[in-house]
Amino acid sequence: MSFIVETSARHVHVSKEHLAILFGADAKLTPKKDLSQPGQFLSEEKVEVVGSKGSLKMSILGPERNATQVEISATDARSIGVVAPIRESGDIAGSGGCKVVGPVGEIEIKEGVIIAKRHVHLTPEGAEAEGVKDKEIVWVKLITDGRSAILGDTVVRVSPAFGNAMHIDTDESNAISATSNLQGEIVRL
Ligand SMILES: [Zn+2]
Repeated sequence: MSFIVETSARHVHVSKEHLAILFGADAKLTPKKDLSQPGQFLSEEKVEVVGSKGSLKMSILGPERNATQVEISATDARSIGVVAPIRESGDIAGSGGCKVVGPVGEIEIKEGVIIAKRHVHLTPEGAEAEGVKDKEIVWVKLITDGRSAILGDTVVRVSPAFGNAMHIDTDESNAISATSNLQGEIVRL
């Protein structure tokens, strides 16, 4: 079985509380484009993420989350001067901090800046077909034009709410010359 490999550009998830500070008390996220994972969307709203050396404008992905989280590449983190450990989404305790500036207000987060650990979303049926379980770490073979690779440390995440898709960041995507129709396949070494 193979699955689509999608590149996640730098983005921000916001809590309801922070959305109100950044965009105003009655602010809501405006869906612009649906993402492959059901219910998730790219919003029209953008914020400036500020580090010690610079800043980057980033889109907010909706819906709102329990905690604000900034997902960037290692290249981004170095260029704007923020600390960003490799973490699974939601695992932000002790991660990097930054300032986030919106059109109405700004916030300072003490943690929440991460480099997202690469992962494969699978439905229970997809996981069964692959013979893998939730949280399992796997290798994924990626055949590209000139930069094929087998990537380890890939976390499997299983939920009936998911679509089958692998997510990598822009550094990983560039390193393997990923294209928009790239397919991945779990392999055992
Ligand atoms: Zn994902």
